[in-house]
Amino acid sequence: MALTPPATMRAAVLYGPGDIRVVERAVPEPGPGEVLVRVAMCGTCGTDLKILDGHFPQTPPYGDFVPGHEWAGTVMACGATVDEFSPGDRVCIEAHSGCGRCDNCLTGRYTACLNYANAAKGHRASGMTADGGFAEYALHNSNALYRMPASVSFEDAVLITTAGTGLYGLDVAGGYIAGQDVVVFGPGPVGLMTVQLCTALAANRVILVGTRASRLEAGRRLGATHIVNARETDPVKEILELTDGHGADVSIEASGGADAPQQCAEVTKRAGRIVVVAYYADRVTFDLSAVVRKDISIYTSRGEGGNNVKRAVAMAAAGRLRGAELVTHRIPLDEVAEAFRIVRERDGDPIKVVVTP
Ligand SMILES: [Zn+2]
Ligand SMILES: [Zn+2]
Repeated sequence: MALTPPATMRAAVLYGPGDIRVVERAVPEPGPGEVLVRVAMCGTCGTDLKILDGHFPQTPPYGDFVPGHEWAGTVMACGATVDEFSPGDRVCIEAHSGCGRCDNCLTGRYTACLNYANAAKGHRASGMTADGGFAEYALHNSNALYRMPASVSFEDAVLITTAGTGLYGLDVAGGYIAGQDVVVFGPGPVGLMTVQLCTALAANRVILVGTRASRLEAGRRLGATHIVNARETDPVKEILELTDGHGADVSIEASGGADAPQQCAEVTKRAGRIVVVAYYADRVTFDLSAVVRKDISIYTSRGEGGNNVKRAVAMAAAGRLRGAELVTHRIPLDEVAEAFRIVRERDGDPIKVVVTP
């Protein structure tokens, strides 16, 4: 099947801090190893706000840069050497494509590529160091695309990139959750996808901690065995009670809250694991000595490395990951600035706001 893209498209270009405009642009042509995708939808997240405000390093210059790093769509054309995909394939992405030649890429840690932002050496972080998915069409490297079965919707697919972040965190921390008690801090998209991952990986208790009742209820629907509203109760006391006084085997910090690292230290079992996948507005303070004393290991991970998006696709295909339920707002591309306003002001209690061309 041959698909012919038009010569021009609409794309949301960042012209300066807070200044994003939808303009007419040439549809790019895929080079060797690249694939042109017709974007079905692109998710927004907190990182986009940092990019929009100009607080994200190594983005392309203003007036030339299309953000958007959580997108899915349909393959339109493949560049030279690409035989992994065909026009018409429905695909989701991982944002990061490593250079494939540095030490970290060679060990699967391509979200920490040593040639980060060096496009000439083959690195691309879609919507961060290169044009992304707030557009009708986007290019990506073939090694950062994943074909989706027909049973997985585009809404689900957008959240698969998010699930890849949680799954990579678990992977880096040694994996294998079966039978263990898990606490997830932060019922945002990463936290809610991580609840589902832990459930699918046969965790014993999955305790979700947050402050917004609607998100906590979503977590319960998606598999959390217990929800703890930190506004109504002391989460540390509650979690210790729920875990026979010992604490959880694994604490996953996906909230970015200033108090959360300390709470992780207090609710994690001796010799347990803490996995940090969040970012913080400021430096954080917590009792590191207590972590050492309890023989706890702390792991961090960035984004969705280690081929974990492929694994997340498999889990979605098996019906174990529901992303569409997290999509609360669908905003047309022409109103992309409004989408960011909703995310920033949390107007209408958004979980995931997606932009559709
Ligand atoms: Zn994101
Ligand atoms: Zn690399």
